[in-house]
Amino acid sequence: MTARDGDGWVDCQCGNRHWGLHGSAGMLLVRNGSVLLQHRAPWVHNGDTWGIPGGARDSHETVLEAALREGAEEIGLNADFVTPLQVHDDDHGDWRYDTVIAKADDRLIAHEMNEESLQVEWVKYDDVTSKNLHPSFAHAWPKLKVLLAELFM
Ligand SMILES: [Zn+2]
Repeated sequence: MTARDGDGWVDCQCGNRHWGLHGSAGMLLVRNGSVLLQHRAPWVHNGDTWGIPGGARDSHETVLEAALREGAEEIGLNADFVTPLQVHDDDHGDWRYDTVIAKADDRLIAHEMNEESLQVEWVKYDDVTSKNLHPSFAHAWPKLKVLLAELFM
């Protein structure tokens, strides 16, 4: 077993403070023209916003390992029902957020699992920006939306 060593803040050259000493990773689950968004509780950093399941990556983890672990912790994600397709990296220099774009099987059921997650919802691509989005996800979404159009045409 290896330790969880990714928790902590990074003061980034972009002027913002980000969570994850080795960066963070998340999973963008896609099914039938919708993506799975998670409503984060008001008391977490950038709370009361919508984003994707994810969090700090540990030094020994791959992006995919971190995204799957966070998905399991936050929404009860079953890795058997997920097909990773591509990784989009948002590299700030001092910090990075990697998003695993993955196809979700029809059998996948996401639950709100822990105290950080209020609700999960499948949201049509065009409706994503009508949500109050987490800043990191809002920043990446325009590029992710283009990738989705290419991957799922
Ligand atoms: Zn930054």
